[in-house]
Amino acid sequence: MRLPRLPAVLAAGVVLLTSISTARAAAAEPTFVVPSPYVVAIDPGHGGSPTSDPTQLWDPGVVVGGIMEKDITLDLALRLRTLLQRERVKVVLTRTSDQYVEISERWNRAHAAGARMFVSLHVNAYDGDPTINGLAVFYPKPDSFSFAQAIDAGLAQTLKRFQIADDGVAIKPELWVRTDVPTVTVEPAYLTNPRERSLLLQDDFRDAIAMGVFQGMVAADPEIEQTKVQLAHSEAAATAQRLATEAASADAARVATATRWGLIVAGLAVLFIVMRAAIRRQSRLPQPPAYRRRNYRRRRSVSRRY
Ligand SMILES: [Zn+2]
Repeated sequence: MRLPRLPAVLAAGVVLLTSISTARAAAAEPTFVVPSPYVVAIDPGHGGSPTSDPTQLWDPGVVVGGIMEKDITLDLALRLRTLLQRERVKVVLTRTSDQYVEISERWNRAHAAGARMFVSLHVNAYDGDPTINGLAVFYPKPDSFSFAQAIDAGLAQTLKRFQIADDGVAIKPELWVRTDVPTVTVEPAYLTNPRERSLLLQDDFRDAIAMGVFQGMVAADPEIEQTKVQLAHSEAAATAQRLATEAASADAARVATATRWGLIVAGLAVLFIVMRAAIRRQSRLPQPPAYRRRNYRRRRSVSRRY
């Protein structure tokens, strides 16, 4: 009674392997929540160029010696967007190219995207006195005061090495009248001041402006940094889950292979048992009668004598 144990052992093995695989698949179910990104709006001031259509509006902003404010503001916005995207912030630009966009439409775009901060980028001008210089940050309502202070502090720090005077923050109620999130209008330097104009054409100065505004935004709301950490955690969890799922499917493939081999071995064992039984039965069959062989030999020996 040794042979019947083999199929029982194989069946037990298959059941065990299948249960391990099921347990792993259950452990790989999602157990994390992906946080929604922090959304901010960056507004590159002015924009648009004259076209053949005379009804098409365009607004270059301040223009000094062929240098246009609209080009500087768009470039600053793109630099600032790069810094924010590295912190996993979702950035909405009110314009991404040289196009004319109404003020109300700019706010609509920011609001529709769910922006929690609004930063409008400009450069300053003072007609008639090229010595006027410095950095200024404007805010539309008292509830944006601390946000404006944070942006001004960030800029004052990064523009210090360029000897940019900090004129501080000031309220301008006529700006962004519909806003309901922290909002500023940034004027980092004067295009009408020769020294600041030449700085505004430099890459390192533009990077310093973008960095100053960025640092002010991050300082203004710790949730930017918290959301970044949460996003990193959820991504790590998603990666771990993907690896676990891959491992579970590899396990399932191994179990399928083991099952196939188990069935093959079991089949061969059954075949062996059946064949051995058949051979035994055949060996028990009665032998042919002994007289035939004796007759044959006798006949041959008889013919040899003649
Ligand atoms: Zn402007």
